Amino acid sequence: MTTSLSQLIANPSCMDDYDPNSMPVTKAREYIRQFLTPVRDTETVALRQSLGRILAQDILSPANVPNYDNSAMDGYAFNADDLTGQLPLHLKVVGSAFAGKAFSGNLASGECIRIMTGGMLPAQTNTVVIQEKVKVLDDVIELTDMPKRGANVRYAGEDLAIGQIVLTKGHLMQAADLGLIASLGIANVNVYRPLKVAFFSTGDELVSVDQPLQSGQVYDSNRYTLFGMLTRLGVELIDLGAIPDQPEVLEQVLLNAARQADAIITSGGVSVGEADYMKQLLEKHGQVLFWKIGMKPGRPLAYGKVGNAHYFGLPGNPVAVMVTFYQFVREALMRLMGQHDVPTLPLFTVPCASPIKKLTGRTEFQRGIVFTDTDGALKVKTTGPQGSAILSSMSLANCFIVLDEQVGNIEVGSLVQVQMLNGFT
Ligand code: AMP
Ligand code: MG
Repeated sequence: MTTSLSQLIANPSCMDDYDPNSMPVTKAREYIRQFLTPVRDTETVALRQSLGRILAQDILSPANVPNYDNSAMDGYAFNADDLTGQLPLHLKVVGSAFAGKAFSGNLASGECIRIMTGGMLPAQTNTVVIQEKVKVLDDVIELTDMPKRGANVRYAGEDLAIGQIVLTKGHLMQAADLGLIASLGIANVNVYRPLKVAFFSTGDELVSVDQPLQSGQVYDSNRYTLFGMLTRLGVELIDLGAIPDQPEVLEQVLLNAARQADAIITSGGVSVGEADYMKQLLEKHGQVLFWKIGMKPGRPLAYGKVGNAHYFGLPGNPVAVMVTFYQFVREALMRLMGQHDVPTLPLFTVPCASPIKKLTGRTEFQRGIVFTDTDGALKVKTTGPQGSAILSSMSLANCFIVLDEQVGNIEVGSLVQVQMLNGFT
C-alpha cells in the first residue's frame, strides 16, 4: 500500500480492497500507519526528565557494567584452583573487601579474604563461598563442600559490555531505562520533542462542567477522557474547548488547531447527521478519509490531514471515543512521537464467565473485568450493559473483550481474547 491520501480521496476505487463504508479494524490501522510522519526535532534533557519520552539517539555503553569482577554474596573469596587435598579444607582469612573498599594486599595459596556483596574480587581470586556454608575458626575458615569454580561472582561486563548498544533510537523511556542509563554514568539524553496535540469537542448540546445543565443538554465528558488518555501518553495538550455546531466557529477553531498542533483530535460530528459541519470543513481544508469501521462501538471515524497536522475525527459517544482512541489513536500518536516498534495493545486468551450476544461481521470491544475465579483461574466477565454512551462501563472495566468479526455468540466457558487496560485507562 503506497497510495497517498489525496489519491485515495480522489479515487477510492484505485485500491482493490478499499471500501470506506466497510472498513475492518486492522485495515484502518494499516491505512493510518502508512500516512504517519513522526516528529524529527530533538532536545537534550536531564535523565530524569526523559521518563515517558522517546530516545532520539542510540545509547552505547561507555564502559563495562559492572566495571570489575565482584561478589554476588556475603562470604569469602579465594582461588578455587589452589584447593587441593581432602575435605574439609582450611583457608586463612588475610583481609577483607567491601563494596567501595577493595582489598589492597596479595593473596598467597591457602588464603582467602572476607568479602561483602559488591566487593571487588582481588586479582588472585575467582570464587566466593557464602558465609552460611563455612565454619569460622578464629582467622581460618573451614570448607566442608567443594565449591564450584566461579561461584557467586558477578563478572565485569556481565550486564553490559563496553561499546554495546544498550537502548536504541525510538525507545520509549521507562523506569528501568532511567536506572540503566544512570548505571552507565550518563546524565543527559537526546529525545524527540513532545508531540503537540490539540483537541476539542463538537456539539450544540454540550455544556462545560462549571455551567448549569438545561434540559436537552449534556456535560462535555469527552474532553475529560481525552485529557486523561493524552496525558498518560505524555503529549503536550492544547485544549480548545467544547465548540457548538456552528460552521464559522468550527472553521476558526479547526484552522487554529492545525496551525499549532502536530495532531488534532475531535469528538462528535463525523457521522453524517444534519449538524455535521465538520465533514464539509474537513473536505474544504484538509485531506480526510471518512470511514465506517466494522466495529462496535465506534463505527464512524475520520482520519487524514489538515495542513500539516494529522487529524483524528472520533465519534461523539463517550465509550466510542475511548475505544477508538485505544484502537487507533494511541498507537498512531506513539508513532508520531518517534517511537519504533509500537505494539497494538497485546491480546491474550481467557475463559469467559458470562454469556455474550454477538453478531458476526464486525469487531466488538466489550468492556470486561479479568478476575481470579474461586478455582484460582483467570477469567473474564462483562461489566454489564454495553451501550456506547455508558461510560461507567469503562470505569468498571480493566480490559476490553475483543470479539473478532467472525466470532458469534459466546457461551460461558468459551475462550475469548482480552486486551488489558491497566496503566492505560
Ligand atoms: P455525534 O457523533 O456528534 O452525533 O454524537 C453522538 C452522541 O454522543 C450524542 O448523543 C452526543 O450528545 C454525544 N456526545 C457528543 N459529544 C459529546 C461529549 N463531548 N461529551 C459527552 N457526550 C457527547
Ligand atoms: Mg454532535
